[in-house]
Amino acid sequence: MLDLSRADLAFDKLTLMRELPRAIAEGEMFLQYQPKVHVRRQQIASAEALVRWQHPVRGLILPGDFIAVAEEAGEIAALTLWTLRKVIVDQRVLAGEGRDLRLFINISGLLLADASFVAEACAIVRATDAKLGFEITETAVIRDPDSAIRHLQSFADIGVELAIDDYGAGLSSLAYLKQLPAKELKIDKMFVLQLTSSNRDPLIVRSTIDLAHALEMEVTAEGVETPSALALLSVMGCDMVQGFLISRPLGFDAFRKFVAEDGHLAPGGTGHSPFAR
Ligand code: C2E
Ligand code: MG
Ligand code: MG
Ligand code: MG
Repeated sequence: MLDLSRADLAFDKLTLMRELPRAIAEGEMFLQYQPKVHVRRQQIASAEALVRWQHPVRGLILPGDFIAVAEEAGEIAALTLWTLRKVIVDQRVLAGEGRDLRLFINISGLLLADASFVAEACAIVRATDAKLGFEITETAVIRDPDSAIRHLQSFADIGVELAIDDYGAGLSSLAYLKQLPAKELKIDKMFVLQLTSSNRDPLIVRSTIDLAHALEMEVTAEGVETPSALALLSVMGCDMVQGFLISRPLGFDAFRKFVAEDGHLAPGGTGHSPFAR
């Protein structure tokens, strides 16, 4: 029997591939920001930009459904440069309001092997004072380690902070970990979501935190959804947390408001602090 759902999916993908250039050019993409909060200081440390596609017919499409398509369509460089420019504008707005937070964008592994992307992104970064960071996965580096590490070093040299994203989820390699000029390691949410109900996840998370600290990196746990996970991460010495407990990804205006109310994160503040519970 013909598998109609699969046929639909294949059609979908081709349609999305065809529609992407227009979507990027005509403003159908937008960013949401998800804060990373410093556990000990109970303050926003930085934030991550996550791209969304507001499709005129299909509605909201999440990156899981179009990043791979953009890579295959050869549109990932254009999409990422658009994201970089937008994040710079937003970062300058925040800095102008006295909240000079570092904003991170996700960089697809393919781009670390793309010299023209690297040159263009470096030129854009050099032309601004914005505090920026890139999140990259290790899988990205394993493909072509020498050029990836060289390109990452050139971003680090112009002030872009690097974070290793989704640590532990892919083909993790301790050999590359020690060569990367990264300041931050983000533990994948697959180890964090069941942190307090699993036997092994706490062991993996704690040893990863210790490893990262030994390598002089700061650690962020992503996917923090419960107060009990936050409490355990705090005991384990995790530096920063990110997840629905703290905040869902927010549109820029809602994010600005969240940042402006940063004081509320402190215990005894007026409100929504997960730390105060
Ligand atoms: P990521 O960088 O690991 O981002 C974390 C994902 O986990 C986000 O999904 C976020 O909404 C979700 N998340 C955050 N907190 C929680 C939580 O407490 N619980 C759960 N269950 N999920 C949580 P999103 O926005 O759908 O992004 C998925 C992936 O798409 C990202 O994973 C990133 O790899 C990629 N991506 C997003 N934006 C971009 C981009 O601009 N460029 C590239 N190349 N990739 C992007
Ligand atoms: Mg990320
Ligand atoms: Mg991640
Ligand atoms: Mg992830």
